[in-house]
Amino acid sequence: MTRKPRVVRRIDFRLLPRPGTVLMLDGQRYIVVGSDLHIRTDGETVPIILWQSRCAECGQPFECRTGLKARALNRRCEEHRRPGKAATAAGRKRVGQHIARHGRRRRKAS
Ligand SMILES: [Zn+2]
Repeated sequence: MTRKPRVVRRIDFRLLPRPGTVLMLDGQRYIVVGSDLHIRTDGETVPIILWQSRCAECGQPFECRTGLKARALNRRCEEHRRPGKAATAAGRKRVGQHIARHGRRRRKAS
């Protein structure tokens, strides 16, 4: 007997989703392949979800990770990823707010 995979449309979990759980995000399909623990800079340990998807650019499978709640995920493989360049308007807004609050990262004066 095969169990139908659970399909969700956003990353908003209370508990780690079981492997095989499918996420549909803006037409891109992600599947849960596992989990991990992450130690934050403040020392707290938080669960991490491991996702697998296919690059929006070349179709190569790639993996990425998020916490139990997240607004966005990588849409491209390592090769086609464009760091600092958000794929969505919401992402661009978030980056702008972060820069407004914390300033751009500057090199320390030596
Ligand atoms: Zn790619």
